[in-house]
Amino acid sequence: MQPKKRVTVVGAGIAGTWQALLFAKAGYEVTLLESGDPSLAQAAAYWAGGMVAPDCEAETAEPVVVRLGRRSLDLWRSYLPEMPVTGSLVVAHARDRADFERFARLTSGHERVGAQRLGELEPALAGRFRDALFFPNEAHVEPRRVLRLLHRQLEAAGATIRFGTTADPRRLDGTVIDCRGLAARDVFPDLRGVRGEVALLETQEVALSRPVRLIHPRWPIYVVPRPGGRFLVGATSIESEDAGPVTVRSALELLTAAYSLHPGFGEARVLELGAGLRPAFPDHAPRIRIDGERIAVNGLYRHGFLLAPALAELTLAYVQNGTRNEEVMGWS
Ligand SMILES: Cc1cc2nc3c(=O)[nH]c(=O)nc-3n(C[C@H](O)[C@H](O)[C@H](O)COP(=O)(O)OP(=O)(O)OC[C@H]3O[C@@H](n4cnc5c(N)ncnc54)[C@H](O)[C@@H]3O)c2cc1C
Repeated sequence: MQPKKRVTVVGAGIAGTWQALLFAKAGYEVTLLESGDPSLAQAAAYWAGGMVAPDCEAETAEPVVVRLGRRSLDLWRSYLPEMPVTGSLVVAHARDRADFERFARLTSGHERVGAQRLGELEPALAGRFRDALFFPNEAHVEPRRVLRLLHRQLEAAGATIRFGTTADPRRLDGTVIDCRGLAARDVFPDLRGVRGEVALLETQEVALSRPVRLIHPRWPIYVVPRPGGRFLVGATSIESEDAGPVTVRSALELLTAAYSLHPGFGEARVLELGAGLRPAFPDHAPRIRIDGERIAVNGLYRHGFLLAPALAELTLAYVQNGTRNEEVMGWS
């Protein structure tokens, strides 16, 4: 029997986890090295909304992000069949009507639903908005839980995960996949962090089955339901690499947006306020940089959950068969 080919993945955020998973399932001997502990509290993924929303993201994202996002959705479904694919909704208050119509024009894959259908989809929103855009083919995951689940799948597939291990990809032998997020600026000098702040709320007064985006003049504000009456309200998008605590201004904006979506959020408890840095390139598109056996995957920006499975599939196809994808791959 031939010995298994070895692959080392550095960084167990959402990018590295999917890379490790697809290589392990393809029969490689995979080791995943992560400097943090299993909570991954320092990863961008820790604060993410977890929306897998290729159709909505078409409003601002490059076409390649939308295409890879649609492929990722299929991969999420096959590796995590229990993932809720309940779609997502976009609503707007009367003053933001023009931006709502613009969102509708720039996106596809949605139905325009009237007040009655909106009330059927989300009884909590009945009578609160004149209409909405319903994107039925979108999904969402709970990032902290789903990373644990994927790590379990990885171990079941025979991979080794070493937390508390900081590695330098240049000093490792064999095939190495560098998924260090913002820490990979030695390989990608044009990588920057984009601050995103969120609030985690808890209330039994409001029930939602799917993420709801509220058109907002400054940021794409959304409320993502989590199990147990919890809701993630996100996210600001600020050109800053300060990962420190949430500012008063941002907290006010996030909480006001939630309250304006449904006054029941007025009685919600604020469980957490936090901020993460999204690793981004100037064009906000992802990159797979190949340097011999060293491969670096980065720049997932606000699309880590949307892009990680499809990027892992591309990397695997390259390592297995030399298949090139000129849209996201580059060679040094
Ligand atoms: C507020 C917010 C909301 C978001 N919402 C969404 C969303 O709804 N949908 C979506 O698709 N995306 C969303 N994102 C974006 C998504 O979270 C990021 O794109 C994604 O987390 C980036 O993944 P990554 O694995 O590249 O980086 P990270 O998640 O940062 O992971 C990198 C990992 O590498 C580890 N590491 C670094 N250096 C080393 C080293 N030398 N050795 C070992 N380990 C190392 C780090 O500890 C870290 O765990 C959101 C982001 C934020 C901040």
